[in-house]
Amino acid sequence: MTDGRRIPERVQQVERWDSIITGAGPAGMFCAIHAAAAGNRVLLLEKNARPGAKLLLAGTGQCNITHDGDIRSFVSRYGDHGKFIRPALMSFTNTDLMNFFASRGLSLRAEEGGKVFPLSRKSVDVLAVLLAECEKQGVVIRCSEPVTGIARGEDAFMVATGAGTYCAATIAITTGGASYPQCGTTGDGYRLAASLGQPVTDTAPALTPLTIRNYPFASLAGISFAAMPFSVWRDGRKVRDCTGDVLFTHTGLSGPGILDASRWIRAGDTVKLGFAGPVRREELAGDLAKRAPENPGWWVGTILAKYPIPERLNRKLLEISGIPEKLTCAHFSAAQRSALAANCTEFPMEVESMGDERVAMVTRGGVALDSVNPKTMESKGVPGLFFAGEVLDIDGDTGGYNLQAAFSTGYLAAQGIRKRLGT
Ligand SMILES: Cc1cc2nc3c(=O)[nH]c(=O)nc-3n(C[C@H](O)[C@H](O)[C@H](O)COP(=O)(O)OP(=O)(O)OC[C@H]3O[C@@H](n4cnc5c(N)ncnc54)[C@H](O)[C@@H]3O)c2cc1C
Repeated sequence: MTDGRRIPERVQQVERWDSIITGAGPAGMFCAIHAAAAGNRVLLLEKNARPGAKLLLAGTGQCNITHDGDIRSFVSRYGDHGKFIRPALMSFTNTDLMNFFASRGLSLRAEEGGKVFPLSRKSVDVLAVLLAECEKQGVVIRCSEPVTGIARGEDAFMVATGAGTYCAATIAITTGGASYPQCGTTGDGYRLAASLGQPVTDTAPALTPLTIRNYPFASLAGISFAAMPFSVWRDGRKVRDCTGDVLFTHTGLSGPGILDASRWIRAGDTVKLGFAGPVRREELAGDLAKRAPENPGWWVGTILAKYPIPERLNRKLLEISGIPEKLTCAHFSAAQRSALAANCTEFPMEVESMGDERVAMVTRGGVALDSVNPKTMESKGVPGLFFAGEVLDIDGDTGGYNLQAAFSTGYLAAQGIRKRLGT
């Protein structure tokens, strides 16, 4: 039953539901809760033995549930897709989300920088609230029932799982993305959507670290840089300017700034790092040319001290620039100044590979946004079919933006379902 059209003849013998939600992650549970709150009979089908596998891993098990910034500022946190998600964010904001959990007994706390976590720092407590609310609203959850096919009839959908077949007036696909497949997220939703005629874009891992070709900083793994400017280059042309926290790993680059930018980076690209902070190459070269003659007895590395370059990296950059560690400024040549200025402001690193779906926190790409109504989360081509969460072509920055997207789109999809059902 994967052709998206055929419907068995004896429909009356299968269980009938007002709505079937496919996938019990945060988007699916939230959609189910709010659809059921209007008295609808809602069935939530989950592939795993238990709901919320990925939610339990979120924030290394501490669950960075959202961010406490102004909701209007969230829109810029979803790459180029903020416009689509805006209505969802506005219909169920970060404040609404925090109130939802707080009013059900889960205290939350924003840490410095704005990330919001449960006070207990336990994802399992977030999941417990969602499951209790599902129960309260009468949502029926069936686990170990992967949805294998959805077919569309005149006025109902037929849903097949390993265990049986169900019928519903409305369907929501909330199966998440394709990263961390051990969580049950293996891209099933893309195939289900496509079988119903829904366009799906190419997908790839996002929020993922980079492996760098001929990486020179393995011995400096663990050093991190706050708000470092860096740029992404492809075929000799700059494609993005970015700023963010960067971490040296044993094989390349990570840290929130790199993870957030990874949605724009491809293997083969060059990332140029600005170790010296927000200063241009010519400015730094000019500064070195001015200060070196003023301090002829200083070692060259000393005049970099006013820039945010850790000492071990300072030494490494001198070595890479062909400058002896104990060279004094009196002997600092123009060619050496130029090489050092370039390496401190635009250090080029070729991306050998991107972390694959086993390490990527989310998936970029998914159900095409121009085929979904952003005010209802309903398919434009298939009435009664809804989407929410990561299965959509939405990926957020680190910092709680992905869970907020899952909850907000889940909520809005539930409103769309209620409208479609007239409840
Ligand atoms: C390690 C890690 C840490 C993260 N930390 C954070 C964080 O701190 N803050 C944040 O905002 N985001 C975080 N994220 C991202 C966030 O967890 C996801 O974006 C979010 O869970 C997406 O929610 P969702 O409901 O759309 O999908 P998911 O949570 O992926 O849930 C989808 C569900 O659908 C089920 N499913 C799949 N196929 C089928 C099928 N055929 N039939 C039935 N069920 C199916 C899956 O088993 C799964 O339970 C993290 C991700 C990872 C991997």
